[in-house]
Amino acid sequence: MGSCKDEDRNEINCLFVHGPIIIGAGPSGLAVAACLQENGVPSLILERSDCIASLWQQKTYDRLKLHLPKQFCQLPFLNFPKNFPKYPTKHQFVSYMESYAKHFSIEPKFKQSVLGAEFDNLTGFWMVKTQDFQYFSRWLIVATGENAEPVIPEIHGIEKFQGPVMHTSVYKSGSEFQKQRVLVVGCGNSGMEVSLDLCRYNASPHMVVRNSVHILPREMFGVSTFSVAMALLKWLPLGLVDKFLLMVANFTLGNTDRLGLRRPKTGPIELKNATGKSPVLDVGALSQIKAGKIKVVEGVKEITKNGAKFMDGQEREFDSIILATGYKSNVPSWLKGENGLYAVGFTRRGLLGTSSDAVKIARDVADQWSMINKIFPDIDTKLLK
Ligand SMILES: Cc1cc2nc3c(=O)[nH]c(=O)nc-3n(C[C@H](O)[C@H](O)[C@H](O)COP(=O)(O)OP(=O)(O)OC[C@H]3O[C@@H](n4cnc5c(N)ncnc54)[C@H](O)[C@@H]3O)c2cc1C
Repeated sequence: MGSCKDEDRNEINCLFVHGPIIIGAGPSGLAVAACLQENGVPSLILERSDCIASLWQQKTYDRLKLHLPKQFCQLPFLNFPKNFPKYPTKHQFVSYMESYAKHFSIEPKFKQSVLGAEFDNLTGFWMVKTQDFQYFSRWLIVATGENAEPVIPEIHGIEKFQGPVMHTSVYKSGSEFQKQRVLVVGCGNSGMEVSLDLCRYNASPHMVVRNSVHILPREMFGVSTFSVAMALLKWLPLGLVDKFLLMVANFTLGNTDRLGLRRPKTGPIELKNATGKSPVLDVGALSQIKAGKIKVVEGVKEITKNGAKFMDGQEREFDSIILATGYKSNVPSWLKGENGLYAVGFTRRGLLGTSSDAVKIARDVADQWSMINKIFPDIDTKLLK
């Protein structure tokens, strides 16, 4: 470590990193660090929070289980323990992540929030800036996730509401909402699962469904819907697979349009590929909607002091509002340049995409790494002088 001056001539800590800098210690960051290590390349992970897999540890609800079967969510070179169920709980997933980091001796540098990353054409190095350091490396791997920041929509009048308003990233359990009337804004996987969790605590959730949504059973004939789709896609065109999934969904779940959950015109997989919008995999919310325990309401026109006015003219009182309005990436706010730049975990294919990205990036960097080390065996020590 050394010291250098920033653009305002202040002395700051500088560190030349041997190998790539990886930003983010979620599953993608850990996977790529492990793959690099398997290829003999060291790396350094910078993570803004104080733990690995912070999305899973700090921003998800207690009852969360993996949406997809475990074989689609494990990371390269280390499988889930055999005794884990088909859909591991979030606690099991976190313990797997911790064993993964331990197994590959990955020690991220925590509390390092990346504020800027810029490629310097003159030196051929990336300069990555955090609140108290500047790091330099030939390679930058962005693994900050598609879910880095909560999306908080502008809803007319929300500032007038007297009760609590929270995003699902801070929702832990329905125990805080017992017997309350809760407005849940959003009907994706999080909106559905939070509404279901609220029912379990005798709360009365009203779920706002503004857009169309595909709901599929989590399993078809005892096999996960995701596995069925993946298998069929090997043999059949996408349009036909979508038709098949919708036929089985209509047969097992019934016509969801009648419940106020209109299906999009585009099929579930085609929509996912085109827009990244995942279908909801039903884990029980639909039966609560059918039983009238979760009320489906149309778009919100306005939030009032004690509740909400809806597009259909109805007005209701609520005790709390939960925004199940999703997440977005924060990369555009701090990244500049493209040389030696890699991204892992942005393919909208979840943990399955993470694993294949990590393996490919590690191979590519490893090739360059061995070439540079052959030509300039002492390049790093020279740069530090
Ligand atoms: C409720 C929920 C359930 C999900 N269930 C599944 C599932 O069953 N199967 C599946 O495949 N996917 C699932 N996903 C998607 C899931 O987010 C990803 O598959 C997985 O967590 C992606 O890992 P990642 O490492 O790319 O991103 P993340 O897990 O989001 O990790 C990114 C890390 O980068 C850090 N970071 C962000 N910005 C900065 C910065 N500027 N500086 C430093 N560090 C930064 C963050 O703190 C975080 O630790 C789920 C997502 C949610 C929200």
